[in-house]
Amino acid sequence: MSIMVPSKTPALITPGRQALDSALHQLDRAAEHLGLDDGLRTMLATPRRSLTVSVPVRREDGRLDVVQGFRVQHNVSRGPAKGGLRFHSATDIHEVTALAMWMTWKCALVGIPYGGAKGGVAVDPTALTTRELERLTRRYVNEILPLIGPEKDIPAPDVGTDEQTMAWIMDTYSVNAGYSVPGVVTGKPMTLGGSLGRAGATSRGVQIAALAALGRSPEGVTVAVQGFGKVGALAAQYLSDAGCRVVAVSDITGAVHAPGGLDVARLRAYAAETGGVRGFHQADAMSHDDLFELDVDILVPAALEGVITEANAPRVRARLVVEGANGPTTPEADEILAANGATVVPDILANAGGVVVSYLEWVQNMQAYSWSSAEVELKLRDLMLGAFSEVASLAAERGLTLRQAAHVIGVGRVAEAHQMRGLYP
Ligand code: NAD
Repeated sequence: MSIMVPSKTPALITPGRQALDSALHQLDRAAEHLGLDDGLRTMLATPRRSLTVSVPVRREDGRLDVVQGFRVQHNVSRGPAKGGLRFHSATDIHEVTALAMWMTWKCALVGIPYGGAKGGVAVDPTALTTRELERLTRRYVNEILPLIGPEKDIPAPDVGTDEQTMAWIMDTYSVNAGYSVPGVVTGKPMTLGGSLGRAGATSRGVQIAALAALGRSPEGVTVAVQGFGKVGALAAQYLSDAGCRVVAVSDITGAVHAPGGLDVARLRAYAAETGGVRGFHQADAMSHDDLFELDVDILVPAALEGVITEANAPRVRARLVVEGANGPTTPEADEILAANGATVVPDILANAGGVVVSYLEWVQNMQAYSWSSAEVELKLRDLMLGAFSEVASLAAERGLTLRQAAHVIGVGRVAEAHQMRGLYP
């Protein structure tokens, strides 16, 4: 049986719906490979809990806006739900469900004792003042309060949120509890129980996965990065530090190209000062679309879902695509890339460094103890390389792509947890 995808009319196919279709397609392939029965497949295709809330926000001019917020716990069979919180105007319940599902497989794949969750608020955070953002965050947290907690569901930063957002969540939850609960979120500022190494963890993981997949010296290897936010900017930095030549990056403001290599540290400083990479004087401007088609060794999509599609995949020249973002490649594009001999290191493996160090942060919080950055880095490297080698071995043994192998391992572990626990009542 294949997993039922509700029928849709073209007008209703949002990017979020496309992301969910991709996630269900990947699950279906893995379930088929694992020989899972229909009932278990349906359970794994369905989120455990899904909450939609209305979030009223008082604007600075006195107006009242109401935005929609979501929290989806896809699966909690292996431990508390874990997943980021996204502030983006186009987010919807489908996108949040897809992202929660990918979190479930990701946590299982890297062997950390979490299920998968995700949160989202359909708002453009750049259009709000800091005080408006704070009010929005606190009210959203209040609305989802019954779902979250250090033993239940632990949010973290994602697109449009950062450590300040996590501090507000931690404070709102703690005020309601009557005492400080640092373990309710990860990606917090250091002063509130954050972990050394968390801010750069996803990007460090991208670097580790990229170099493992490259399998040769990174010296002179060319890289293009789409998205220059928390994940993309530091991924570019770490790959450049390792000896790669980062020749192009983009963000929402534009794309810049320097065939001789960008000075990534300078570009990060420039983007922090001006609000984006556009206009960086030591590079040429290029179009967003052209970045995907550059003749580079490694392409790192690190922005949003569904950017490598059947339309542009035939023109992707990179031999290695390392998914910093969640869901950047559609299933149709995946097939085209594979047929053209490109290797894709899938999101649930390539960007798992973030949730790995989130887990380490949570463990430190639960023990009221903190580790050195060297300890955190070592554990991150061990978990990333361990997962990478398991995925690569399974792919080679069974003739699968890295994405198929990663899903077979992740989905298989969650299925096994369900089977061992049995069904209540
Ligand atoms: P962010 O908000 O910090 O950065 C997003 C970046 O994408 C920004 O630079 C933005 O300008 C850029 N962008 C948006 N639309 C674009 C477009 N059309 N073209 C080019 N650039 C565009 O978000 P982030 O935390 O860096 O997350 C990026 C991706 O990584 C998301 O898919 C997220 O789910 C995933 N991810 C994040 C983490 C984490 O720890 N933050 C962990 C795992 C996966």
